[in-house]
Amino acid sequence: MTEQPHIVEEIKKKYKNVDLVFGTHNLHRLPELLYRVIDGGVRVYETSRTDNEVAEGVPVKRCGNIHAWVTVMYGCDNYCTYCIVPYVRGHERSRRPEDILAEVKTLCGLGYKEITLLGQNVNSYGKDLGDATDFAELLRLICENTPISRIRFMTSHPKDISDRLIAVMAEFPQICNQLHLPVQSGSTELLKRMNRHYTREQYLETVKKVRAVNPGISLTTDIIVGFPGETDENFEDTLSLVEEVRFDQAYTFIYSRREGTPAAKYPDQVPEETVKERFDRLLALQNRISREINDRFDGEVVEVLCEGLSKTNIERYTGRTEGNKIVNFTSPENVTGRTVKVKIDNVQTWSLEGSLLEIIS
Ligand code: SF4
Repeated sequence: MTEQPHIVEEIKKKYKNVDLVFGTHNLHRLPELLYRVIDGGVRVYETSRTDNEVAEGVPVKRCGNIHAWVTVMYGCDNYCTYCIVPYVRGHERSRRPEDILAEVKTLCGLGYKEITLLGQNVNSYGKDLGDATDFAELLRLICENTPISRIRFMTSHPKDISDRLIAVMAEFPQICNQLHLPVQSGSTELLKRMNRHYTREQYLETVKKVRAVNPGISLTTDIIVGFPGETDENFEDTLSLVEEVRFDQAYTFIYSRREGTPAAKYPDQVPEETVKERFDRLLALQNRISREINDRFDGEVVEVLCEGLSKTNIERYTGRTEGNKIVNFTSPENVTGRTVKVKIDNVQTWSLEGSLLEIIS
């Protein structure tokens, strides 16, 4: 938000008590900017951007000590017509593989067991580095050079997912059996208006390829409902794609106009009532599918990395399967940070419940 000049101007005018405004581009300059405010007694509105730089060494406050987020790249070059990110976060910039490896090794030394590699489109990783390291290669480097037990990543743009990446995912057991692949719409016509650069058929083909090498993979997605110009037919295409793929989970969003994006100017915005009705139908469909998929775990034994006590019930532990299913379970001893087998005896739409069977490691 604070990378957008019109927002910065508004804050400057309306909120005289605000002394300092800066965006994520300048996060590494916080000490210097604070000093300017405190020492100089001036208001600082820093909107300068250094799009080609990646600042290393910024201190990170970690939440939790089992799982950590590791940014591998910043920015985005895709310009989906509904999204403000490329305008405010700038072009894609990849961190150097050696810096990422060093961070993962440090995390392992601190006892972290699982990481999620982050980027707006991790499949573009390395394009700006000028060497042969792409995202598949980065995953291989991490698997071969660090003792991390579990690796997840997000987000993968469907147009950029490579055969090499699919192969590496199947090759290394550390890479979790899970893929978040945002489809946004099941209609090729709408995907074109969204500037997504893939068709419904190409998306389905990618899913087929991924499942061919990894049949049990857990698939999740993002879907926008009510994108400008979405017809009943376009929406039916989304429903039928959801039926066909059977995602483990879908993050569904009602389209919201973002000033500064091409789609905000599209004249054919969908009426609110229609959007709401479509959203409810999609949600009901996905809930049914998620529940059906989870039902298959009833009575099964699953492997869970325990993250600690459940926040909602301190008599239970909580953790995730490799497929990212949340499992709440009872255990006679503290198994935080351990990988355990849990026998599932109750199934919910968004989580599984059970009891400890065995400690694996
Ligand atoms: S939706 Fe994702 S890929 Fe598209 S422009 Fe935004 S950040 Fe980039």
